[in-house]
Amino acid sequence: MNFETIIGLEVHVQLNTKTKIFCSCPTSFGEHPNKNVCPTCLGLPGALPVLNKEALKKAISFATAIKAEINQNSIFARKNYFYPDLPKAYQISQFDIPIVGKGSLDIEVNNIQKRIGITRAHLEEDAGKNIHDGAFSKIDLNRACTPLLEIVSEPDMRNSDEAIAYLKKLHSIVRFLGISDANMQEGSFRCDANVSIRPVGDYALYTRVEIKNLNSFRFIQKAIEYEVQRQIQAWEYGNYAEEVYQETRLFDTAKGITKSMRGKEESADYRYFPDPDLLPVFIPDSLLQEASNIPEMPDEKQIRYIKEYGLKEYDAHVLTSNLEMVHYFEEMLTENITPQGAVRWLTSELLGKFKGEVNIENSPVKAKTLARLVQYVENGTITGKSGKELLDIIFNNPQNTDIDAIIQQYGLKQVNDDSAILEIIANVLAHNEDKVQEYRNGKEKLFGFFVGQVMKMAKGVNPTKVNELLKQKLTM
Ligand code: ZN
Ligand code: MN
Repeated sequence: MNFETIIGLEVHVQLNTKTKIFCSCPTSFGEHPNKNVCPTCLGLPGALPVLNKEALKKAISFATAIKAEINQNSIFARKNYFYPDLPKAYQISQFDIPIVGKGSLDIEVNNIQKRIGITRAHLEEDAGKNIHDGAFSKIDLNRACTPLLEIVSEPDMRNSDEAIAYLKKLHSIVRFLGISDANMQEGSFRCDANVSIRPVGDYALYTRVEIKNLNSFRFIQKAIEYEVQRQIQAWEYGNYAEEVYQETRLFDTAKGITKSMRGKEESADYRYFPDPDLLPVFIPDSLLQEASNIPEMPDEKQIRYIKEYGLKEYDAHVLTSNLEMVHYFEEMLTENITPQGAVRWLTSELLGKFKGEVNIENSPVKAKTLARLVQYVENGTITGKSGKELLDIIFNNPQNTDIDAIIQQYGLKQVNDDSAILEIIANVLAHNEDKVQEYRNGKEKLFGFFVGQVMKMAKGVNPTKVNELLKQKLTM
């Protein structure tokens, strides 16, 4: 039997506001435990939450980027559950009316475009952190009450490649918007995956299993693939009903398997109700307008690069794949070089040298330096071949950024100027008078010898020019 996979994703994005969502404690990461806390985020009786306007604006920017409906009137709700890192015993979240309604996001897998629906995105507060330390469990509430945007997709993805494409697109959108650093290691971009299977041709939705707190693209892919196989096997062995039930599972990164964590709660279990401490949120038109003024998103950028710079679709795609690449490319273009030159030297030459941990973010060759190199190739100061040699040198000696000195030191300068070449030719001919005589008497194969001598004295000299001028001089 052939099966189809159904995947829906919930992503928690930590918004990069300076202060928490309902109090004015700082959101800085890596502080001493329980330093960034106050009566509100500690959940002390009588302390009142106040919504952070910046968090609201960032949610509106996100809605604009995915062309989603925005609810100008929305409300916050209490999601009740008891857990040690949640001092109030409820999380302030949104339920009935989230700020961001239906939207969508386009992905591409194997050259096939697909639109993935986004059901909603709502603002909520994060919980603190439990730290299990031997016989003790400790609680750090620095993270409690930091702003999250939870983005919920439709169950529109059919395999792990589509899930990863969706997540990478979402990751790049929040980074292009500048609303989150989306650092996956620090947990500012984490994903829960809802996975189910069904026989191909069947349109019912079967039991879904939620895999929680995945924080790397590689683990997400592995977790989904493992879970799909587990469910297919259960179906094929006839124990699907016993093995696959609505639950939350965790991915064991060391063993590469998903493990049962707890039964999945339904929304009724949370006893949601409107938070009486927070006023309903109303977004005036002026704020809507201000916050929906967003920077250029990756898709638009790609289209503009193709139209404005005449780039190939593939190159435009590579260049807009992440924010660092865009910054690098656009910084190169501030120098006086052609976009084609910039693309070629960036994508075919520089990216080809990246290995292991080296990437565009920590590239040993900075954008301005590479742009200078391209400029020198384009204006004929050095040949393309010398350009590659130069790139090799600066890539391996990142502390030496004085490319003019390197060009001098390695004799990479292309000699185009006739008088300089003529001077070298005169010099060579003067030192080889006997051979000049032989050549003039008919020993034409000596020509190659003269070319070799001239080229040796002037590395980077333009060979066509040498041939031409040498012919002239020898036949005089
Ligand atoms: Zn606080
Ligand atoms: Mn949530």
